[in-house]
Amino acid sequence: MANKHIPELFGSMVFNEEVMRAHLPKEVYKSLMTTIETGTEIDPSIADVVASAMKDWAVEKGATHYTHWFQPLTGVTAEKHDAFINSVGQCKVVMEFSGKELIRGESDASSFPSGGLRATFEARGYTAWDPASYAFVKDGTLYIPTAYCSYTGEALDTKTPLLRSMDVLNRQALRILRLFGDTTTRRVSVTVGAEQEYFLVNKDYYDRRKDLIYCGRTLFGASAPKGQEMDDHYFGPLKPKIAAFMQELDEELWKLGIEAKTKHNEAAPSQHELAPIFATSNLAVDQNLLTMEYIKKVAERHGLAALLSEKPYAGVNGSGKHNNWSLATDAGKNLLRPGKTPSENVQFLLFLASILCAVDRYQDLMRLSVASASNDHRLGAGEAPPSVVSVFVGEELSAIFDSIINGKAYKDKSKDKMNLHIPSIPVFNKDTTDRNRTSPFAFTGNKFEFRMVGSSQNIAMPNVILNTAIAEVLKEFADQLEGSSNFDADVRTVIRETLTAHQRIVFDGNGYSEEWRHEAERRGLSSYPTCVDVYPTLLSQKNIRLFTSMGVMSETELNAREAILLENYSKAINIEAQTMIVIANRQIIPAVEKYIRDLAETVRAKREAFGEQIDCYVEQDLLNKIIKLQTKSYKALEALKTAETKAVGSGLKLAAYYKDRVLPAMAQLREPIDELETLMPSEYWPLPTYGEMMFNQ
Ligand code: ADP
Ligand code: MG
Repeated sequence: MANKHIPELFGSMVFNEEVMRAHLPKEVYKSLMTTIETGTEIDPSIADVVASAMKDWAVEKGATHYTHWFQPLTGVTAEKHDAFINSVGQCKVVMEFSGKELIRGESDASSFPSGGLRATFEARGYTAWDPASYAFVKDGTLYIPTAYCSYTGEALDTKTPLLRSMDVLNRQALRILRLFGDTTTRRVSVTVGAEQEYFLVNKDYYDRRKDLIYCGRTLFGASAPKGQEMDDHYFGPLKPKIAAFMQELDEELWKLGIEAKTKHNEAAPSQHELAPIFATSNLAVDQNLLTMEYIKKVAERHGLAALLSEKPYAGVNGSGKHNNWSLATDAGKNLLRPGKTPSENVQFLLFLASILCAVDRYQDLMRLSVASASNDHRLGAGEAPPSVVSVFVGEELSAIFDSIINGKAYKDKSKDKMNLHIPSIPVFNKDTTDRNRTSPFAFTGNKFEFRMVGSSQNIAMPNVILNTAIAEVLKEFADQLEGSSNFDADVRTVIRETLTAHQRIVFDGNGYSEEWRHEAERRGLSSYPTCVDVYPTLLSQKNIRLFTSMGVMSETELNAREAILLENYSKAINIEAQTMIVIANRQIIPAVEKYIRDLAETVRAKREAFGEQIDCYVEQDLLNKIIKLQTKSYKALEALKTAETKAVGSGLKLAAYYKDRVLPAMAQLREPIDELETLMPSEYWPLPTYGEMMFNQ
């Protein structure tokens, strides 16, 4: 690594702006850049030239194939590879790639979730090139990021609504900027930086745990004697094996133009984090998906398996993905930067007010955008943000808000100095506010950090919700303020009224505390503990109106999404229940049987050798305990099987059944089995333990 030249390595596999400039005729490059920068439609006449240049560049990088890369509603990405070859005469081929192939792809959509949007006879689906996300070469294939829709034009992916939401937010934010006299900004884009948490486990252990293989999280497992209580893993030194993995991961990501920047050990043993430098949101989504893929891939090369699930182990921290979110102009100005005197920065305060209003109005959608079967185990578990949405703004902004709401003058705080009283360490300015770790949605100086997002999820949906909801509020502001004859006074009124109406969403205290639960209830904030509680809200009138009026999703698309969310939830829990049944039936019960037999055999052998009077207290006591737990486990196993056979129907009814009947039956089975684990000798226990998995990486 030391002798590799990082700047040259960086982005070497990406068809980025620099490569485009070098490989495209000037006019074509200019036209394509206009499309990318302003989000306008691509001029079809340049498509052939771009495609051909892309292919030549990709072939130089060793590519033989291309694929339209898309994000169906499965939660993972999809790809189908086509070779560039075209036959010319007998036994002769040339490498070709046309504009048509670049811009549009057609694929059989029948095996992707469509939530009833597509009848099986209408199997066609289309992929459409998203010029604003860079193409790249990976594993000998040119990857072209695309949006994906049905034959009838409905979005069947996460990217289409994301692009639409970025566009509406751009348009409404521009209207606001114009009100403040900004005539030069051409585009406002959403910037996103997703901090990715994950666990690593020795691959040998992983291969011996069917729950990890099928479900990505452990379904059994007694706590290790040591967890994270000593706080000695967080930011701790990296083990050599982990450091080597991280180094190779960085390098792979850099080649793909992903600015992997920060890496460290996280709170739980064997938990780690990677943070990139933020990018425009569609690019950030693509890059996060690639990051997850490479975390898994590179881990394998190092004899490790990566666990991206939100809650791989009970009893220690789960993994999230802090979605840092802000707005930037095409000149690179961050619209959420408060400046030296935030109290006088009216434009900043107006944007901030729009965000508070949007989050308060659409708490349900915020919660929904992060809801999955696995994230349900993490949110509100006392170490992740609670499942009630609130906003942290910090001491300084809180005081400013108070002064605005109460019509009192605000005196800007001068920055405190930090003096460590060590002559060689210079005095530095303190941040005006400390961090708050428990808030689901925190203002962190010049951006918001949405912390409820799950580690394994595609970050598109949370950003769609934020973009769309905020765009709606900005639209209302612009409608009110455009044509105002007294803008300065009117804009202040809008800010005051908005902050007053939505101050209930602001909470700067401890989000984990019992008092907050009561306080949140008193304030009328909504609480959706599980997916089943929140998914149906997607189709409330208020939410349908939001998406349709902003042109981000149609009612048909929303219906399909709700159906898919519910279906995915039921499927996920069904797979977990089936996996538990298999592990209990085929691994645990037989192991317990063997131990019982060996204990009984010991008793028999002892009596044979030493006579009937020999003390067999230990064996008998163990046998008693173990047989009791075995019986309890077996009955719970039978109950879970019965619960599974009764899981019929579909939609909300089925999902509710899984939550109310199957999940508790799973917990009933886990309990005696985890207790058995603590009583059985390790050589009999068929599964690697929590201690082994978390501490022997
Ligand atoms: P912290 O340690 O407080 O979480 P960092 O400064 O390390 O904050 O940033 C965390 C993430 O936020 C990084 O991915 C970073 O690139 C991203 N980020 C920083 N500024 C912005 C911004 N303006 N918009 C979106 N993301 C940002
Ligand atoms: Mg953070």
